[in-house]
Amino acid sequence: MENKRCFANRFADYKGALCTGQNNDSIVRTVKATIEKILKKVPTDLKDCDGGLYDGPAGVAYMLYHVSECPWFAQQRDVYLKTAKQIIDVSVRYVDGEQEENMRAAFLLGGAGIYATAAMVYKALGLSDFVKPLTKFRNLWEVCAPMNFLECGSDELFVGRSGYLCAVLVLRQKLEIEILSPDQIKAICQAIIASGKQYARKKRTAFPLMYSYYGTEYLGAAHGLSSILQMLLSYQELLSSAEKELMWGSVDFLMNQEQNCNWPAELGAVIDRENELVHWCHGAPGVAYLFAKAYLVNKKPQYLDTCIRSGELVWQKGLLKKGPGICHGVAGSAYVFLLLYRLTGNSKYIYRAQRFAEFLFTDEFKAGSSSVNSVYSLFEGLSGTVCFLVDLLQPDKSEFPLFTVFV
Ligand SMILES: [Zn+2]
Repeated sequence: MENKRCFANRFADYKGALCTGQNNDSIVRTVKATIEKILKKVPTDLKDCDGGLYDGPAGVAYMLYHVSECPWFAQQRDVYLKTAKQIIDVSVRYVDGEQEENMRAAFLLGGAGIYATAAMVYKALGLSDFVKPLTKFRNLWEVCAPMNFLECGSDELFVGRSGYLCAVLVLRQKLEIEILSPDQIKAICQAIIASGKQYARKKRTAFPLMYSYYGTEYLGAAHGLSSILQMLLSYQELLSSAEKELMWGSVDFLMNQEQNCNWPAELGAVIDRENELVHWCHGAPGVAYLFAKAYLVNKKPQYLDTCIRSGELVWQKGLLKKGPGICHGVAGSAYVFLLLYRLTGNSKYIYRAQRFAEFLFTDEFKAGSSSVNSVYSLFEGLSGTVCFLVDLLQPDKSEFPLFTVFV
């Protein structure tokens, strides 16, 4: 029976040679052509800036910044960065006018991500002005430090304080300066831990830390436990030994929720094999980053094995029908292979990423994919695809956009 969620993967698996059809020059040409297509569609009006990095124009600015950092596009660098500045300046004006202060602290859906991207673009252009958006970003610390600053759930990645910590990680990596003091970061980590302990106790759950978002106990990267724990791991050197114990206990708890190489979208759900979600947002392709980080921190082979199993599921079921993006699309699946390449050095994963890249431009994919809301966007549309293709040119530096485990 045909799977509703994914295309059948008819590619032969790796037999020792990479794909010859996809040389770097053809990827470079595809990237440039796709960027042209995106720039024709991205809105430039102040009223169209909703959606932040996730599916607003700001995500396009980030993509252009990312491409401009790649040596293959040295000749386009200046044009791409100046275009990125035009786009992000409108988004900054939009978020400066945002009435609701709490949404301003949101990473993927709000102001924190926009200010962070503005700082990166300005810095890349050599403008000392980068301090302005950076200062606005730093000031959001006060907004997201209080334990219950958001009613819907204060801890997850898109609008909560894990997202804010994730942005700090990206900024520190790209700007090469300290963004917050260790005490400030520690205070946010402690709020995450206190909040997770309180929730777990209130719900009398068996596990040490748990969270909900709009009432749902998500496990995946989008709003769930895995990306929250990933951020704690990213700053684990700042935690006390008791806090670390809670964190590792929770990592192992989540590891034990695996059902045949995948994780249900929410705690306690049973995965239906015919209809399972194999997305970055919900499922193994996003949870894999937590176990990658866990492996990088303590080198326990079981964490790497968990990532490898996730990759096998993605090879089978990752040719998704929900578009070309990174959230629940083919590029998001392919990023798992680039992650596994960086963890293992095994060329099999480059080959698999190449095959998924190839599939993105087939008639079968174009005819069988559902349409996405904003075709230019970073998480659902073509900007995420462009980031993936650029990373395929430099797999040793590849990272899922704005979600690094290697720093
Ligand atoms: Zn998604």
